[in-house]
Amino acid sequence: MRWTRSLIPTLREDPADAEAVSHKLMVRAGLVRQLAAGIYVYLPLGQRVMDRVNAVIREEMNRLGGQEITMPVLQPAEIWQQSGRWDKIGGEMFRLKDRNQRDMCLGMTHEEVIAWLAAREIRSYRDLPQIWYQIQTKERDEARPRSGVLRTREFLMKDSYTLDPDATALDVSYNAHKRAYCQIFDRCRIRYIVVDSDPGMMGGSGSHEFMAPSAAGEDEIATCAACGYAANVELARGVPAAAALPPASLSETGPREVATPNARTIAEVAAQLKVDPARTIKSLVFLVGDTPVLALVRGDHNLHERKLARALGAEARTAHPEEVVKHLEASVGSVGPVGSKGITRIIADESLKGGVYVVGANRDGFHLVGVTPGKDFTCEWADLQVALPGEGCPKCGKPLAVERVIEVGNIFKLGTRYAEMLGATYLDEQGQQKPIVMGSYGIGPARIAAAAVEQHHDADGIIWPWSIAPFHVHLVPIAVKDAAQMAATEAIERALTGAGFDVLMDDRDERAGVKFKDADLVGVPIRITIGNALAKEGVVEIRERATRAERKVPRDAVLDAVREIAKALGMA
Ligand code: ATP
Ligand code: MG
Repeated sequence: MRWTRSLIPTLREDPADAEAVSHKLMVRAGLVRQLAAGIYVYLPLGQRVMDRVNAVIREEMNRLGGQEITMPVLQPAEIWQQSGRWDKIGGEMFRLKDRNQRDMCLGMTHEEVIAWLAAREIRSYRDLPQIWYQIQTKERDEARPRSGVLRTREFLMKDSYTLDPDATALDVSYNAHKRAYCQIFDRCRIRYIVVDSDPGMMGGSGSHEFMAPSAAGEDEIATCAACGYAANVELARGVPAAAALPPASLSETGPREVATPNARTIAEVAAQLKVDPARTIKSLVFLVGDTPVLALVRGDHNLHERKLARALGAEARTAHPEEVVKHLEASVGSVGPVGSKGITRIIADESLKGGVYVVGANRDGFHLVGVTPGKDFTCEWADLQVALPGEGCPKCGKPLAVERVIEVGNIFKLGTRYAEMLGATYLDEQGQQKPIVMGSYGIGPARIAAAAVEQHHDADGIIWPWSIAPFHVHLVPIAVKDAAQMAATEAIERALTGAGFDVLMDDRDERAGVKFKDADLVGVPIRITIGNALAKEGVVEIRERATRAERKVPRDAVLDAVREIAKALGMA
């Protein structure tokens, strides 16, 4: 491909709104452009990267026995009503009506269509197992589209679904998928960690996420270097250090009111009363629909909203200060679990079992000391707290680390829920009707591309892994008006292309410095410079993007040299 005939709009400056490295570099290298919030155009280089990522995914899915299909983006409401998700999913689903006022939606995932299809096409145990997959557009009205292509409202997903007769067979399908995913991420040169995760709105009995460490990630995982434990912080439970004992004056039990003038935050209260913040309780008011719920965590901990949702069995949102006053007749800073008005449900983090604590008194300017959870107020116990670095690993007790990650893929054991709701059954060997056991597996190709950029770049630009690079070789003739140089460049281009390499030639009449800068930015693994040394010594210069290692190679030896480097870089 020739640069002068291509759309490769590189930029010198970072886009103003970009924070993530991958966002900056993918825009600057001319891979993508944003049409509207979370809606992107893939330009030729971006498209080539996506094609290569998808090719890797397809190969591994086919190797697994997956059969590629295409399901519609536009879907009737009925199947979502049957599964129960039409009402359960909130603003994330794009909904619309057709010309006959029938409810429709844009597919944010395809479990319903799969179960619908299985209900019609699978009859007997002889039809099972099945693996169906697609690489298809998903539409989700994400609350916070951000970080370039990492979280968009329209995106490509490889989604696959397994249909099995029973849970044992599902385990086999699930584990095979897990291996295929490792293969895909390994081939794309993504560093990743497989973690236990929360099945969330998918429901089901088990799930794992594939997490690529990166500062641009929106997820956090807790890991233990000692025993290999790894879990999403949505699920991880560290063993917190014990709270310091309160001073003698505050350790006696029986709630007693003390004045805490102007102390609103945990830090202020702890400082005034001279207690460890871990001896105070953070009382947080959430609303489930219109019903207020009080959630309690230790003063030095933070609450994880997904953990709360799991404990409640429903989504909850933080109450606004006015709503707190309206429901509890107390201000946000003074809310507490003893004698709180308007609260019928209190959920406390397990770390609050045992010991005495300082809590809000539901009266401005005062706190209660000597409060024993479970005795001075009744509550349900649950795991609510965000795992913190340094807390004990739940498996081995050694300190946990917490790191930011990009979720590049996930796998779920769905079980029979969708099959039951949509009537996807089969007849077993005894002629008995049984629900099909499903699994669901997703990968975001754009997140693979962006995670690769996050993990493989330097100050000058992207360093594409060989397997997903938009081109393999970037030819830079220095003097495009020099006929001999151009002829040599074209000969190299023909030789490389003929051998199966993808070649980009920068045939612009630009200064060498400009072309080199763009080559570094775009990040093609091998750059070949055809300049003065060709006429003088009969050599061209081959440079590896990753290591910047340069070598002079006779023009006739270019193909062999490229083959050798390609092999070292992991060409399959
Ligand atoms: P997240 O927790 O990041 O919102 P998710 O759990 O909603 O992800 P799934 O519905 O399981 O994700 O989708 C499967 C895969 O699709 C994800 O692992 C991710 O790679 C990709 N993906 C999900 N949402 C987006 C998005 N908004 N933009 C780009 N890729 C996405
Ligand atoms: Mg999501």
